[in-house]
Amino acid sequence: MLEQAVSDNAAAAKSTPAKSWAGRLLFFNVNHSSSVRNRSENAAIISPEYSKAKGASRDRGGMGGCARGESMRYTIEDQNREVGVKMTVAIDRLFSGSTILCDGAMGTMLYSNGVFINRCYDELNVSQPETVRAVHQEYLQAGAEVIETNTFGANAFRLEHFGLRDKVREFNLAGAAIARQTVEAMREKQGSEAFVAGAVGSLGVRLEPVGKVTLAEARAAFAEQMAALAEGGVDLLMAETLMSVDEAEQAVLAAKEAAPQLKIVVMMTVNEDGNCLDGTTPEDAAKRLTAIGADAVGCNCSSGPTIVLSVIERMRKVTKLPLVAMPNAGLPTSVEGRHIYLTSPEYMASFTRKAVRAGANWVGGCCGTTPAHIRAMRGALRALDAQVTAEATAKEAAPVIEIVSEHRVEPKPLRERSGIGRMIADGEFVTMVEIVPPKGFDCSKELAGAALLKKYGVRAINIPDSPRASARMSNQSLCVQMEQKVGIETILHYTCRDRNILSMQSDLLGAASIGLKNILCLTGDPPKMGNYPNATAVFDVDAIGLTKIVQGLNHGLDIGKNPIGGSTGFTISVAANPGVPDIDNEVRRFEYKVAAGAEFCITQPVFDQRLLEQFLRRIEGFRIPVIAGIWPLTSLRNAEFMKNDLKLSVPDEIFTRMGAAASKEAALAEGLKIAREMLEGVRSEVQGVQVSAPFNKFLAAVEVLGLSEEAA
Ligand SMILES: [Zn+2]
Repeated sequence: MLEQAVSDNAAAAKSTPAKSWAGRLLFFNVNHSSSVRNRSENAAIISPEYSKAKGASRDRGGMGGCARGESMRYTIEDQNREVGVKMTVAIDRLFSGSTILCDGAMGTMLYSNGVFINRCYDELNVSQPETVRAVHQEYLQAGAEVIETNTFGANAFRLEHFGLRDKVREFNLAGAAIARQTVEAMREKQGSEAFVAGAVGSLGVRLEPVGKVTLAEARAAFAEQMAALAEGGVDLLMAETLMSVDEAEQAVLAAKEAAPQLKIVVMMTVNEDGNCLDGTTPEDAAKRLTAIGADAVGCNCSSGPTIVLSVIERMRKVTKLPLVAMPNAGLPTSVEGRHIYLTSPEYMASFTRKAVRAGANWVGGCCGTTPAHIRAMRGALRALDAQVTAEATAKEAAPVIEIVSEHRVEPKPLRERSGIGRMIADGEFVTMVEIVPPKGFDCSKELAGAALLKKYGVRAINIPDSPRASARMSNQSLCVQMEQKVGIETILHYTCRDRNILSMQSDLLGAASIGLKNILCLTGDPPKMGNYPNATAVFDVDAIGLTKIVQGLNHGLDIGKNPIGGSTGFTISVAANPGVPDIDNEVRRFEYKVAAGAEFCITQPVFDQRLLEQFLRRIEGFRIPVIAGIWPLTSLRNAEFMKNDLKLSVPDEIFTRMGAAASKEAALAEGLKIAREMLEGVRSEVQGVQVSAPFNKFLAAVEVLGLSEEAA
C-alpha cells in the first residue's frame, strides 16, 4: 500500500516540470540548503582561541564549547590526545563493514520547525544554533550513530547566492561545533557513542564542459569547506547529493588535500532510472569513486527508498568499499499547500532490512525523513543484529550437523506435505476453525462440530493445547479422532509449557507416526495463569526452540542430531500477536521464528485491523503466509476478557457496539457482525482466516465465514 503511495507520488511528480534537472536542483536547494546575523551568542564557538585550539590538536579534534583561555586550552589538548587515539580506532570501526545508522533530514526538519524556506539554512549555525542543535539531539536520541553537520550548502558557490561568499569558514566551523557539542553532551549524559560527519553538498553549479566552472575551481571550493569542517572538529567528511561523477571525484581529491587525516564518504543522487544525473550508471560511478580513493560510496536523496535500494545492489557488485544508503522519503506531495512526504517510518524500516541484505553498511535518511523514521530504522537494525547472532550460533553448531550430514534429508515441498500445505503453497485462501478439546473425556460434541464444519466446506480444524493452562483432554488424541472419524485435516497446537524436550520429541515422533501433518509451535501460557497454578512449568525451550526441533525432525534428525529414518514431513506454523504493546519484540521474535523454520503464521484474534496492517508492514522483509485469527465476540464481558485477560488490543468502538446490545441475542448478533466486518477488512491482506467457535458455537463460525452447505 505504501509502495503504491510512493509510486503514485513519483508518477504525479513526473508529470510536473518540477522533476526536470533544473527543477531538481531547485528542490535540493530548498531542502538541503543554507545569511548572517547575531554572532555574539555564538562567540565562544567560533572565537579565534577556539579555532586555534582545534587546529593545534588536530589528531581528531575534540569537544566543543569551553575552549577559551590559555590554560584551558592546554588541558583540552592533553585530553584530546588520549581521546584521539580511541576515536581513531572507533572511526575505523565505522569503515570496517559494520552496520551503522546515520541521521535523517536536516533541511526539512528546520523547515517544519518554522524556518522560512528561502533562507540560507547554513547561516542558522550562527544565528540560531539552538534550532540546529535540537534537530541533532532528536536524531541522536532516535539512535543515530553518525550525524551530519548543518553545512550542506556552506560552499562558496551556494553562499554567493545569499551574498555570503566570505562566510564559508565561519558557517562550517559553527556547524561542526554544534554537532560536536551535541554528540559530546549525549556521550556524557547517556554514554552513547556517535560521530560527526561534516556534510558537504553538491556545489550547485555546472562544471566544465557543460558549465563555466572548472574542475580545479570546484576542487578549491570543496577544499575550502572541508578544511573548515576539519578545523571545526568533525570525525569524517560526507560529500552527498552529488549529481555528476566529475564533481564527486573533485570532492574526493579536495578531501585528500584539505583534510588527509579524515575519511571521505561520497554519495551520488540518482534519477528514477537509477543513473546519476549526468547519466553515469551506478556501477561506473562506484568504480570511479573507488579508484580515486573514496573511503565509502553510496546513494542519497534521489526519489525514495526503492530506487536507492536498486543502486546499492548495483554498486555492491563492483566495489568492496562500505556502501551508504540514505534515501529521501519519496518525492513530496503537495497537500493543502504543504509538502508532505508519504513514506512512513515502517516503510523506512523495511527499506533498512532490504538495504542491509543488499550490501549497504550505513543507512540513514535524506529529505523528508524524521527522527521517527530513524527510530524505526534503529528497530529494524536491532532485529537484523539479532538474526545475525542467531545465524552465527547456528553456524557454530554446523560442524555437528556436518558429521551426520549423510543422515540429513530434505523434507518434501510444502505443497506435498498436507492439504493445508498445498493450499498455502498454491496461494489459496485458507479457512480454518478452532475447536477447543473438552474438559472431560467425551469429545462427541467436538467431533460432531467438526463434521458439521466439514459439511460447510471448512478446510481444517485447529485444536488448542490446554489453552490458558487449564487442563483439558489431550489435543493430540482429539486431532487423531477428528482425522480418523470425521476425515478432516487438523492442526495440532503444541506448547512448551509442560513438556521437557525429551517428551516433545517423543510426542512429535508419535504424531508423525499416526499421520498428523500440521504442527503449530507455541510457547504456551504458564500454569500460574490457569486452574493449577502450582503445576510445574517446564519451558525447556520456547516457540522458537520448538520450531527448530520440528525443523530438525523434518530433516530426519532428532535433538541429538541422530537419524530418525526420514523426514517427519510436518508443516510448521507459528503464532503472532499484532496487538501486543511491545511490537518491536514481537517483530523480532517473529523474524527468529521464520529463521528457525516457520512456514506460515496464525495470528491471535484481530480486533483492530490497523494493527494487523502495521504488523504486516513490519514483517515485510521476512514475511511468510499469514492467517488472521477472527473471534466472534459473544458479549461485552467477552470483549473485556479479550482485552484484560488475553491482552489483545480491542478498540473502544467495539466496546461501545457490544455494550449497546440490549439482549444476549443482540450481543451475539453484533459480535458476529463485527467478526464478519473484520474478515472482510483483512481478506485482501492475509492468506486465510482462522475463526474461533467460542463455547462450541460452530454455526457462528460458519456464519462468520459466510459458508453455505450448498456451496461446499
Ligand atoms: Zn535530500
